[in-house]
Amino acid sequence: MKKTGFFIAFFLLSGQILWSQSLKYIDIPNIGEYVTLKCDFHIHTVFSDGNVWPTVRTKEARMEGLDAIAITEHVEFRRLHDQGYINGDHNTAYEIAKSAGNKNFFVIHGSEITRRMPPGHWNAIFIEDGNKLDTKEYMDAFKEAKAQNAFIFWNHPGWWSQAPNETVWLPEHTKLYEEGYMHGIEVVNSSWYFPEAHAWALEKNLTMLGNSDTHSPMAYNEYYIASGHRPMTLVFAKEKSAQGIRNALDDRRTVIYHEDKIIGAEKWVRPLFDSCLRVTRIARSKTRREMTVYVKNVSCLTFKLVKKDQNEQLNYLRDKNVNPYEEFSMRVRYPEGMTGKWELNFVVTNWLVGPNEGLKWVIPLEK
Ligand SMILES: [Zn+2]
Ligand SMILES: [Zn+2]
Repeated sequence: MKKTGFFIAFFLLSGQILWSQSLKYIDIPNIGEYVTLKCDFHIHTVFSDGNVWPTVRTKEARMEGLDAIAITEHVEFRRLHDQGYINGDHNTAYEIAKSAGNKNFFVIHGSEITRRMPPGHWNAIFIEDGNKLDTKEYMDAFKEAKAQNAFIFWNHPGWWSQAPNETVWLPEHTKLYEEGYMHGIEVVNSSWYFPEAHAWALEKNLTMLGNSDTHSPMAYNEYYIASGHRPMTLVFAKEKSAQGIRNALDDRRTVIYHEDKIIGAEKWVRPLFDSCLRVTRIARSKTRREMTVYVKNVSCLTFKLVKKDQNEQLNYLRDKNVNPYEEFSMRVRYPEGMTGKWELNFVVTNWLVGPNEGLKWVIPLEK
């Protein structure tokens, strides 16, 4: 009897371990008072031109360790519906997916307003009724989205099909921006990073988004195969809830996780960097003119450090790729008679705070 109890406990426990292993954990720390939530606000299913059922989307996202997704079907393009294979309206995909939502995973109602350029494709999320966005004139769809208190952003502004030669901002975009219809912009969509959108977001104080725009099963996407994760928007929320996410989007509290890159405004990239990569100790040699700086990466993210603008008198490593959870040390040699405060200077070339511009990292030293 005792033995049976032991085996039952063992199997229950091993089952739990297997279950927890099937959910991937993307280990990115919180920053300060904010919880870091992993979100994908641009996803398709068979209800527009995607290839999977809505509940597959929620399952994929949960297995990948995401905290929130928005289902955003094209309003104007519903291939399987128009061919007669799929019934339902512009809310059906969300209605099916939303049952997967709970206090740890949020399914957000959205639609993709899908027009020729200008103005191109736009997502309205946190909507109430996608059917009302099905209008003849695009401005009427924007007005309706705004009336529903949606968060609205410009999708894939550099998509080759709509921007074949360059990523351009047109007078129609100025009008949408000035009249309060543009709250954010996709700086990353699927495999693409748009440096122009990065610059516009900084200039115009738009929320930066990075989304998958997946149409296939997630594991079929090239970006997923290449990097092991989808592009996602990291949201810094005051509370883990749908409203917390919405407030963070309104307040521009996001960065993007794309391949091995973090992309955003320095205001949010910097504190995330500081919570991931930490100087744990600085040891000074008593006998030699050198000190050792110990560094620890507490996250699953990587860092490409390149020495830049260094004090010529200091001798330390030229570059370093920091792997997830890596701990390492740097020996710093200094000349005789050097006193006061110095700095080690690096650029983190895969943490972008402007169009293709890396974050600066300064380690202050004192002798
Ligand atoms: Zn689109
Ligand atoms: Zn799309």
